[in-house]
Amino acid sequence: MARGVSVIAIDGPVAAGKTAVGRELARTLGFGYLDTGIMYRAITWLALNNGIPVDDETSLGELARANPLGLVGDDSDQVLVAGHTLGPELRDSAVDSNVSMVSKATPVRIELVAQQRQTAAKGNIVMIGRDIGTVVLPDADLKVYLTASPENRAKRRWQEMRDRGKTVELMTVLSETVARDQADSSRKDSPLVAAKDAWELDTDSLDVQQVVQKIVDQVGDS
Ligand code: C5P
Repeated sequence: MARGVSVIAIDGPVAAGKTAVGRELARTLGFGYLDTGIMYRAITWLALNNGIPVDDETSLGELARANPLGLVGDDSDQVLVAGHTLGPELRDSAVDSNVSMVSKATPVRIELVAQQRQTAAKGNIVMIGRDIGTVVLPDADLKVYLTASPENRAKRRWQEMRDRGKTVELMTVLSETVARDQADSSRKDSPLVAAKDAWELDTDSLDVQQVVQKIVDQVGDS
């Protein structure tokens, strides 16, 4: 099926469906899968737990370089770092509200992008994030940019949070979602933006399976 397509980049804003689509797509194609967001989350968790200020870019860079990340779990949903296996902690609200700040730091990005490229070098991979098609893998065989309205994305995140047992107001989730997108899109280094050669897919009226099928069809045509 995947004639000529070995490296697939999926980018997009918060809760556009990247994780669910990326995982299912990787399963369907028999590819590896890497969610780069959990790498930035792991460094954020480590900084918060080591008392490193999230605006101290130099110390954050040192932290990232000293603690290479190991990805574990069938879906690469856990990170092994500094002797900790991090899973649900990566979705803590403290991590949520600080991760955009940490990911602004160029020294952190340099280290994590190097680790991401190393993983992609093996080929047959679906990688998801914010800058995969623009910066990490500009030569990816297929670049997809997923979008959806802020309201739908907030609803999806709110539902996910409820499923994890968190009680939170939908309006709070909406304002956090918009704030994180704004921070990710306006930063100087590797802002969230669709690559010029990315295929933009609006997921408002599509479920995960439909999005995956559209991408699989595209892979087949490539
Ligand atoms: O995708 P997720 O919401 O888990 O990403 C968490 C944060 O990590 C994003 O809001 C963004 O600040 C950062 N990130 C990034 N570059 C990536 C992936 C995530 O800056 N490639």
